[in-house]
Amino acid sequence: MTRRGSRPLDVAELVERARQGQPRAVARLISLVEDAAPPGTGSGSDGARGQLREVAAALAAHTGRAQVIGLTGAPGVGKSTSAGVLVGALRKAGKRVGVLAVDPSSPFSGGALLGDRIRMQGHALDDGVFIRSMATRGHLGGIAWATPQALRVLDAAGCDVVLVETVGVGQSEVEVISLVDTTLVLLAPGTGDGVQAAKAGILEVADVFVVNKADRDGADQTVRDLEHMISLGRREQEAGSWSPPIVRTVASRGEGGHDVVDAIERHRSWMVSRGELDTRRARRAEAEIQAIALGQLRARLGDVRRGDALGDLTKRVVAGELDPYRAADHLVAELDTGERGAWTPGAV
Ligand code: GDP
Repeated sequence: MTRRGSRPLDVAELVERARQGQPRAVARLISLVEDAAPPGTGSGSDGARGQLREVAAALAAHTGRAQVIGLTGAPGVGKSTSAGVLVGALRKAGKRVGVLAVDPSSPFSGGALLGDRIRMQGHALDDGVFIRSMATRGHLGGIAWATPQALRVLDAAGCDVVLVETVGVGQSEVEVISLVDTTLVLLAPGTGDGVQAAKAGILEVADVFVVNKADRDGADQTVRDLEHMISLGRREQEAGSWSPPIVRTVASRGEGGHDVVDAIERHRSWMVSRGELDTRRARRAEAEIQAIALGQLRARLGDVRRGDALGDLTKRVVAGELDPYRAADHLVAELDTGERGAWTPGAV
């Protein structure tokens, strides 16, 4: 059965249609990524996992072209509004744009919050824009696993630029955002979010700072605070390193979009000149491989747990006959050999 319950999935055909940029095919492939989430992430099915393998193989040769931009910041700073402005500026420059809104919020919202709030009605009928919310459901490894794979789909579908939008709240969002080519960190005056952002570690990953709501009192102060922070960090940096520029925007009035695009382009030129773009892409591929491998290991660990081995080991640890490190060694040995029942209680 396919997800839609209609006809069987013809992977080759679907990939071909996605490569032609057909929105329904792209949407279906991203749904497949979500459906194929590894066991332990709270979702996923074996059938979808098998199909995703085929899809990944078919997509591989057509990826690596898209420029990937991350957009992050505390709730309410204007991410959704800014994403709309940015898409407008990129469309004017003739780019095809994908937007991936990664919402970590909760299983209750189904992860659709950010995407729903992206105010892009103006782009809704534009076939050069693809907008998608990722329902990562906040489970272990879910975001790290799904985001790069969804990115691949949009890349292969011919998006020149993919915007990955996250709420900068948790460690996994920071990790995802640190894997893009250029990270925009949005701040707004008067919300105290500068401090929050520093706590969440998103200031360290910023390539461009955007002070949105520049129409409000306090914007100058926010810019000064940032300048101070950047100058402190700079002393430890080597010559020729990138110093993140600060761009002011008033997203609600559509102001500043082109300045942001300019800053992104300058950062890209700097990366290309330093070989940094290749470094970041290698880091992204590495993280993607690791997330897939971890998903597979968790699945196998789940199998071992369901078998007798963990139960027997647990009893012995509780009884004080075995220490937990040796018990863990035995579990890992089960993963290595893949042989269920290789361990016998008497052998410990
Ligand atoms: P998000 O939660 O970060 O996605 O923020 P939103 O894009 O939903 O914006 C939060 C609120 O701030 C909305 O009411 C926007 O209309 C408003 N807003 C966004 N940009 C600006 C701006 O530049 N100036 C002002 N005054 N308000 C803005």
